[in-house]
Amino acid sequence: MIENSENIDQKSEARLSPPGAAVRLIILGAGESGIGSAILGKQKGYDVFVSDGGVIKNNYKQELIDNGIDFEEGKHTEEKILNAGEVMKSPGIPEKNEMVKKIRAKGIPVISEIELAYRFKGKSKIVAITGSNGKSTTTTLIYHICKTGGMDCALVGNIGYSFAKQIAEDPKPLYVAEISSFQLDDIKTFRPDIAVLLNITEDHLDRYEYKFENYINSKFRIIENQQPGDYFIYCEDDEVIMNHLKTISIHTNPIPFSMKHEVNNGAWIKSDQMLIRMQSERISMSIYDFALKGLHNQYNTMAAGLSAVGLGIRKEKIRDAIMTAEGLEHRMEDVAIIRGVKFINDSKATNVNSTWYALESMKDPTVLILGGLDKGNDYSMLYELVEEKVKAIVCLGVDNKKIHEAFEGKVAVIVDTKSALEAVQESYKLATKGDTVLLSPACASFDLFKNYEDRGQQFKEAVREL
Ligand code: ADP
Repeated sequence: MIENSENIDQKSEARLSPPGAAVRLIILGAGESGIGSAILGKQKGYDVFVSDGGVIKNNYKQELIDNGIDFEEGKHTEEKILNAGEVMKSPGIPEKNEMVKKIRAKGIPVISEIELAYRFKGKSKIVAITGSNGKSTTTTLIYHICKTGGMDCALVGNIGYSFAKQIAEDPKPLYVAEISSFQLDDIKTFRPDIAVLLNITEDHLDRYEYKFENYINSKFRIIENQQPGDYFIYCEDDEVIMNHLKTISIHTNPIPFSMKHEVNNGAWIKSDQMLIRMQSERISMSIYDFALKGLHNQYNTMAAGLSAVGLGIRKEKIRDAIMTAEGLEHRMEDVAIIRGVKFINDSKATNVNSTWYALESMKDPTVLILGGLDKGNDYSMLYELVEEKVKAIVCLGVDNKKIHEAFEGKVAVIVDTKSALEAVQESYKLATKGDTVLLSPACASFDLFKNYEDRGQQFKEAVREL
């Protein structure tokens, strides 16, 4: 079992602090990761400069000012950047960015926020969760189990709170961190005590030269520094993961989970019972007692349960927490039932795989709201479920051509809409009592909305106005 250390190791912090003259640390991008890194960097004695090619949000600007950190916005000034000792590149900035190219050409080391955070985490433990889908849900569930188990921990990373800032302002003995592939791209020593890899399906290929292999490699970097004694929790039903595992050697302790077969040291589901067998621990629990419903959440719950066992949390506490967890907004969120028509907000479904799981869990005839910014989607994996369950598709996007091409002939009605309000009104017209209207777009939202949260909010408001 991994011990829950109470102390932050001051000595290892000092050893890792920049020696002598302050190292110039350039932070590219002033979002959550950038601001957190700047604050941590400054606290640890780096000469920090923040550069953002766009507009910096007022609250972040204020934090920079309050911390006496020098910054620029709307530009990247070469003379101020190319003299860096090290660069922290925010996850949203792609390699094709001109300044990134110049930094790489000059051979300046580039790290991500989690690498910087890792340097100063001391003896604290890290559970790091990655995958194409289910990261936020599983991270939050693990955090909930840890809190229920009485652990002093913080929820950090992609979920919305900077890991680096947490370490600077409120260090904890345990961090539960949601990790994206972009954060993994620029790690060097980052080594989680427990790494969770939920699944790998095609996503973000625009950032990986349209090569799935590059994206897979990026996800697997979560275990590249792991050692015996660490845990690697992964889905054995995921072919991409299993095929990749055949090609690499791992140094960590593999802990699989599966719904298809029993595993030796891990978790599986058989006859609606989840069974965990990990070292000396044994847990058995009915899937009907899981607070988070749906097939995808059975996978997420197995991953979370195993992580909790790895942390040494008592099984009664794990069970309690799994029964009391709350779902997150915009993920299969029940909105309302209006005149017998149920509305579900799954705006966070920004790829085809997550929409597949949403449809898989539908029991009623469904009006599916689909569309937005297509990231190179292949809709064919939805055909069977659409033919079986979907009575109409309501497109919500600027360009819906691909959806029409994919589903014409497979579903009776396909209509186009250009706003959440219009989509909800059209769906309501198409639905009858006993139907479900499901917003699970399989696409990004940026063509019509600020982000997926905005899309989900507008959807919910439109439902409430019916
Ligand atoms: P992420 O943080 O990886 O984007 P979320 O937990 O926010 O994942 O869920 C994103 C979408 O994927 C939601 O629509 C959710 O219902 C769906 N989802 C959640 N877990 C899984 C899973 N294990 N496999 C496939 N889809 C999932």
